[in-house]
Amino acid sequence: MKLDALTLFASMFINLTLIVGALLLGVGRKTRSGMRLWTAALVLQAVAWAALVAAYKGWPREMATLGSAAMVTGFSFMYLAAKSYLRQPVSLPWVVGVPVVTAVLHWLVFENFAARILVVNVAIGLQMLWLTWLLLRPGSTGSWRWRWLAGLALGASGAMVACRAVLVIVAPESYPRFESPHWVNIVGLIVSNASVMAGTLAFLLAYRDEAEQELKRLATTDGLTGVLNRRHWMEQGLAHFNLARRHGRGLVVLMLDIDFFKRINDTYGHQTGDRALTLFAAALRQVVRQPDLVGRYGGEEFCVLLPMSDLAAAEAVDQRLRAALAHDVSPVLGFDVTFSAGVAALREGEVGLEDIIARADQALYAAKQGGRNRIVRG
Ligand code: GH3
Ligand code: MG
Ligand code: MG
Repeated sequence: MKLDALTLFASMFINLTLIVGALLLGVGRKTRSGMRLWTAALVLQAVAWAALVAAYKGWPREMATLGSAAMVTGFSFMYLAAKSYLRQPVSLPWVVGVPVVTAVLHWLVFENFAARILVVNVAIGLQMLWLTWLLLRPGSTGSWRWRWLAGLALGASGAMVACRAVLVIVAPESYPRFESPHWVNIVGLIVSNASVMAGTLAFLLAYRDEAEQELKRLATTDGLTGVLNRRHWMEQGLAHFNLARRHGRGLVVLMLDIDFFKRINDTYGHQTGDRALTLFAAALRQVVRQPDLVGRYGGEEFCVLLPMSDLAAAEAVDQRLRAALAHDVSPVLGFDVTFSAGVAALREGEVGLEDIIARADQALYAAKQGGRNRIVRG
């Protein structure tokens, strides 16, 4: 069986249309992720193939330029999609410049087939190879699985496009028409078809990774304040507790409870209460060190676990938080926010993290009893 280029053009169009339909059904139009950009890229490429075939069938030459512009713009959208998952800034001159320059040049050299093919293939070759580099370069964010799948697909396609550009320079007689049966053209089209499939699978993987990370974030953090939720704080705390016991290292738990918080709610409203909680948690995160775990233990009660630390370190956190609340938080809220704290350190022979928490909690209760706005050791 012989493969002819026009059949491959048609199959490209059909595949792209089907994938776009499936993506719109499966992923939905409402998603704000890079998948939407990838879908837009495929729509543009489907339009491009339809326009190129129409131009070949004798439609006006504007069709061919439109098709080429849509194709190159499609690759700009693939670049945007990749940048969104790689969490990297976008170069607007690259996104807009390449399609505009390509379309203008294509229009100017239209009568010369070789020049026209060269313009488009150099543009999309550059786009694909640059994208391949962005995806494969070491140190990029995102899992290697989707980056490598997308990078290899685009890289293979980019290499075939580059071959096509070389062919039209060194042997223009063997590639005189759009649908020439030269193997570079045919293999290039097959690779393009495969790379659209592999690229889409890769971006679906990226989409899934992103969704998974978001679910993990939702499952482990407190929705209002962004600190760890109680369950995750306990899980992480237990790991630190076991390490501390095994290696005979210090560990401290600090329990904090905002004073007269009910009064804040009653006086200024629940929304202001929420804002006070958010600002309190943000200040707390600012005053701890990197390995310390900050969690929301309950309503207006927070907990901090300080690995490899002693009571003095926890008391220093307490002091820094009081200063931060006075300097940064109270002026913003327009009223003072104070808290009471209880602190307890791991003792030899203690078998559970709950024991330390219970002592810190009792100390907190004592701080409340003692008049609030203070820290007590447990
Ligand atoms: P104390 O000094 O003894 O700790 O007094 P308090 O008023 O802070 O303590 P109490 O336990 O009586 O009240 C805590 C209040 O915190 C009651 C509850 O409605 C409020 N609260 C708990 N969670 C939230 C929340 O997410 N947002 C807001 N705005 N209020 C909350
Ligand atoms: Mg309270
Ligand atoms: Mg409380």
